[in-house]
Amino acid sequence: MRLVLLGPPGAGKGTQAARLVERFDIPQISTGDILRDHVQDGTRLGIKARSYMDRGEYVPDALVVQMVMGRLGEPDAEKGFILDGFPRTVPQAEALERALADVDRPLSCVLQYDIPDDMAVRRLSNRWTCPTCKRTYNLEFKPPAREGVCDFDDTPLERRSDDDELTVRRRLAVYREQTAPLQRFYSARGLLCVIDAQSKEDVVTERTLAVLADCS
Ligand SMILES: [Zn+2]
Repeated sequence: MRLVLLGPPGAGKGTQAARLVERFDIPQISTGDILRDHVQDGTRLGIKARSYMDRGEYVPDALVVQMVMGRLGEPDAEKGFILDGFPRTVPQAEALERALADVDRPLSCVLQYDIPDDMAVRRLSNRWTCPTCKRTYNLEFKPPAREGVCDFDDTPLERRSDDDELTVRRRLAVYREQTAPLQRFYSARGLLCVIDAQSKEDVVTERTLAVLADCS
């Protein structure tokens, strides 16, 4: 099961990814983490990446793909992997496609979790976080047992400052603009599976598993 996950903020992609990790015993791979590890460990690729970052430039796609491919070659990714947050652009998707073809491990499916903007705004702007344990709540969808305090440690909940409606709408617009070409790219290859993510988490998981049963 070799997957790429797409979805706007508020679509519940993180929750679904965590469930797929458990269900299929495959790692969720974040390019941010890989890049950070390489830079921290001072690997050959990390040193190269660092030279771009120090100049305030983006790390080139080819370099990121090399790091990703290294990670995908580790034993825990033998059965498959979930890529989240990568690729972000069509050139990255092309580079990834070539690299995966070289090792004869093409993607099984690209899951796109979709919700209307209004729902994303409702979900995100009602989000409260516990500063102690970092658990998140949603007044509409997942409220705490007692108003305003965390279920686990009784800490007063805080609202995330970047979650006001205008900011959320801007983030969604940016997301849609960036992702549209990627969707066309994967759709043209017959890899794109759009999943309606408006329902409860369990229902969305069922939909995901149904889609995966067809495309693996
Ligand atoms: Zn807490």
